[in-house]
Amino acid sequence: MASNLHFLIIPLMCPGHLIPMVDMAKLIAQHSVAVTIVITPRNAERYGAVLHRAIASGLPIKILQLRFPASDHGLPDGCESVDDLPTFNLSKNFFDACSTLQKPLEHEFNMIKPRPSCIISDKHLPWTAEVAKKFEVPWVIFDGMSCFTQLATHNLCVSKIHEKLADSDRFILPGLPDNISMTKAQLPGLFNPGNSAKAKKLKSVRERVRAAELGAYGTLINSFEDMETRYIDEFKKLKQGRVWCVGPFSNSNKNDLDRAQHGSNDSINNNRECMKWLDSQRDRSVIYACLGSLTRLTPQQFIELALGLEGSQFPFILVVKGGSRTEEIEKWLDENGFESRVKGGGFLIRGWASQVLVLSHRAVGAFLTHCGWNSTIEGVCAGVPMITWPQFAEQFFNETLVVQVLGTGVGVGAQRVIHLDLEDEDEAGMQVKREDVCKAVKMVMNEGKEGEERREKAKCLKQMAENAIEEGGSSQFDLNRFIEDIRLHTNKGLVG
Ligand code: UDP
Repeated sequence: MASNLHFLIIPLMCPGHLIPMVDMAKLIAQHSVAVTIVITPRNAERYGAVLHRAIASGLPIKILQLRFPASDHGLPDGCESVDDLPTFNLSKNFFDACSTLQKPLEHEFNMIKPRPSCIISDKHLPWTAEVAKKFEVPWVIFDGMSCFTQLATHNLCVSKIHEKLADSDRFILPGLPDNISMTKAQLPGLFNPGNSAKAKKLKSVRERVRAAELGAYGTLINSFEDMETRYIDEFKKLKQGRVWCVGPFSNSNKNDLDRAQHGSNDSINNNRECMKWLDSQRDRSVIYACLGSLTRLTPQQFIELALGLEGSQFPFILVVKGGSRTEEIEKWLDENGFESRVKGGGFLIRGWASQVLVLSHRAVGAFLTHCGWNSTIEGVCAGVPMITWPQFAEQFFNETLVVQVLGTGVGVGAQRVIHLDLEDEDEAGMQVKREDVCKAVKMVMNEGKEGEERREKAKCLKQMAENAIEEGGSSQFDLNRFIEDIRLHTNKGLVG
């Protein structure tokens, strides 16, 4: 081992958080820093193939498994990831169960050799700050969001401008390098929590996260300099330089097997047919539509999405994730004859899609996305324009970045965030109609000047994303800067 550094990585067990942290663990280990990733047994299985391949290739990665007390917190046995929750009403139970991992982790800490030099934790696990404090190591947070979101969030927290607004009021986000307008209804839950009793339960979780976050030693971000330069500069200034943009992580998966199993061991079999179908399609002709790992569209909205795609007359892949609504959605698919009608021109994936692999296929021409940050940056890395349909959390910020700042996307016209924990109440109602989907798809696929410009910009960004993680690239630079910072901090501790 070239160095005695050892980073303890603690992910939130949710695909949009665990996937990038597994990628990050590999990236750090490639710099001869030992890494231990803390996960629970089912996640060790789910992400095992990718991790074990990395270990077998010689990377210094270890896996520390902690038992997850699901049933003690009213969760079904084996429910160890947010996307396994039978209903998002159980989110608070899930976070409570996560925080009970503090004791077993503290018990293990002294046995981890070499002694961890820092903890890199998902910011949604604020109790890990207490572990870091107890063992006197820096608590670095991984923030699965962009610097655009960081800055917008900070400025809203300081200005509180949203507090005086009605839901539908359009306003300019304060203090950003660009003039960005949004409505309050589109802001993340921290600013727009909803009024139900359930929403209030989650409010305390969010506030604890925000309070802990402010005390972090520094922040690692899955982004890269050329994509959001001014936002990164501003955020770095705000945090006295302890912000390291080390992405895009997904680009570090160089072989097809890692891309295919990104997020799930099982997806290889699930996606074999889909890859074959893609091989038969023309270059840049297919719309890939996937709304992430957590979004469960209402049956009405699913129908609008499906019929909008069909109406566009472009070939498409549609990833179906119904959760508790699966039965209703399947019933419609069957009764409407959708699947047999679109056969040949439309491909449905049930369960986990090999998104990164699919996006890298030459036949994919556009990505219809919910703008989760990972999907957004994966779309950027694939060099495809995007059709944006944000759903929850900070996804409207990401849409804004893609559509208004980068100029590589067209929105379907979603108006407000959906509160995941209210899924059984269908409070979101109908937001987007099939005509909206169809129109946005046609605009993005348009062969005229506007469409061409969007595609050119997307291609440029793809190149920039590749450069960022190469030798001499900005993300390599920031990763080295981060490792050196922790090395200095550790050595100071040894001397002092
Ligand atoms: N993903 C995937 N297959 C799926 C659904 C999601 O590979 O069927 C991956 C996607 O590539 C991304 C992550 O899961 O890496 C989802 O993260 P994101 O931040 O986009 O959205 P979230 O799921 O957190 O809403």
